[in-house]
Amino acid sequence: MVINRKQMTVKQLLDTAKSQLFTFELLPPLKGHSLERIYKAIDRLIKFEPAYINFTSHRNEVIYKERPDGLLEKHTIRKRPGTIALAAAVRYKYNITVVPHMLVGGFTRQETENALIEMNFLGIDDVLALRGDPPKGSRVFIPEQGGHKYASELVQQIVDMNNGKYIDEVEETTPTNFCIGVGGYPEKHLESPNMNLDLEMLKKKVEAGAEYIVTQMFFENSKFFSFLDRCRETGITVPIIPGIKPIVTLHDMKVLPQTFNIDLPDDLISELVKCKTNQDAWQVGVEWATMQSKELLSRNVPGIHYYTLGVSDNICRIVKASY
Ligand SMILES: Cc1cc2nc3c(=O)[nH]c(=O)nc-3n(C[C@H](O)[C@H](O)[C@H](O)COP(=O)(O)OP(=O)(O)OC[C@H]3O[C@@H](n4cnc5c(N)ncnc54)[C@H](O)[C@@H]3O)c2cc1C
Repeated sequence: MVINRKQMTVKQLLDTAKSQLFTFELLPPLKGHSLERIYKAIDRLIKFEPAYINFTSHRNEVIYKERPDGLLEKHTIRKRPGTIALAAAVRYKYNITVVPHMLVGGFTRQETENALIEMNFLGIDDVLALRGDPPKGSRVFIPEQGGHKYASELVQQIVDMNNGKYIDEVEETTPTNFCIGVGGYPEKHLESPNMNLDLEMLKKKVEAGAEYIVTQMFFENSKFFSFLDRCRETGITVPIIPGIKPIVTLHDMKVLPQTFNIDLPDDLISELVKCKTNQDAWQVGVEWATMQSKELLSRNVPGIHYYTLGVSDNICRIVKASY
């Protein structure tokens, strides 16, 4: 295999696509684990010719450990480090465009700049710019001292680097060439007081320089279509890629709405409550996501982005049946 020194960016892939794109995201392994599971997941999915692969990013978490004297001791841990290195490893092993996620939360502007420089040196020209959630156990997002508050500011920082502008005055810089994606919420972001304001904030990210939007998962396509219409009414013209997450276990029924502030439709719930085992729920998840994918593709979405959480057998089935 001849490795491309330069991969097409997501925008170039979208602009030149002859058919609707299949893309998926993977999580870096838990600290201390190897990349073997990641490679196995990709090996199963690569035959469906994904256009690119995303890699999630995970901020530090604070945990409290009980000491022998009964007092609690505060520890900061990063459970899933290595997003950029993983993306680079996959880029060169599979000769494919990779999109590491980059977070505002937990990082200073300087750390962000350093990470972007590393990506640039590694030949990675794509990034999904996100704010990140508040740390576990906290409902309020507090920016890092010297960090950004919103994803739009991160987008601006990346655009500045594309214009050769770094935090400290540096002379005669070589501009970077990052293609920037951002997140969008068909069911509104949890913290936003209403959909109109959320869409205005989404527009800010696009005006700052985001070239496409990937949506949060949703289980009712009508929500995506109405979001798409409202984005266009708001003046957001960039491609919007729907994000699909197949249900994997019975537990998902409770966890997904709580974690992602989304609704599960009645028809899906009535199928899930009939399930006796996780295997039954997995099957319902495959059928539901296939139904969603087929309809989305028939309505000419630019592609579908699958949230895999590292599980790929279900995605294989869905993609095989839908594309
Ligand atoms: C496709 C996708 C991938 C994701 N991947 C990851 C990941 O890898 N790691 C991870 O930790 N999380 C990830 N997330 C979750 C994401 O980080 C959270 O949903 C986070 O709470 C919001 O991120 P954002 O980039 O949308 O934030 P922002 O766009 O900054 O928006 C956050 C909130 O602030 C409001 N807002 C934005 N700008 C302004 C402004 N100027 N003034 C006032 N209000 C404003 C928005 O309406 C919204 O309510 C992902 C989400 C999506 C959709």
